[in-house]
Amino acid sequence: MRRKVNLGPDFHDEPIRTCIGCGDRRSINSMVRIIEKDGEPKLDLENTTSGRGAYLCHDATCLEQAFKTCSLAQILCLACIPDDFETEFLNAIKQ
Ligand SMILES: [Zn+2]
Repeated sequence: MRRKVNLGPDFHDEPIRTCIGCGDRRSINSMVRIIEKDGEPKLDLENTTSGRGAYLCHDATCLEQAFKTCSLAQILCLACIPDDFETEFLNAIKQ
């Protein structure tokens, strides 16, 4: 027997991922997925690309934290993160 747990009105039956910046766990629909493509980080806004990915909240602070701890580069196995990636991320979360 499985008992249904009432997790409140905000709960949706969606996959949960951990933000690599702040470590919060959220539904993937409220996060930005970042993947590695041709040695560079790319935003995967539609969550359609399979393979290795990192998740961040829609928050510039989380990206900063991920930069600081090098967790983004580590998870995606990248040597470096281009400077313009931050701009790309910030434009994406503004929408
Ligand atoms: Zn976060």
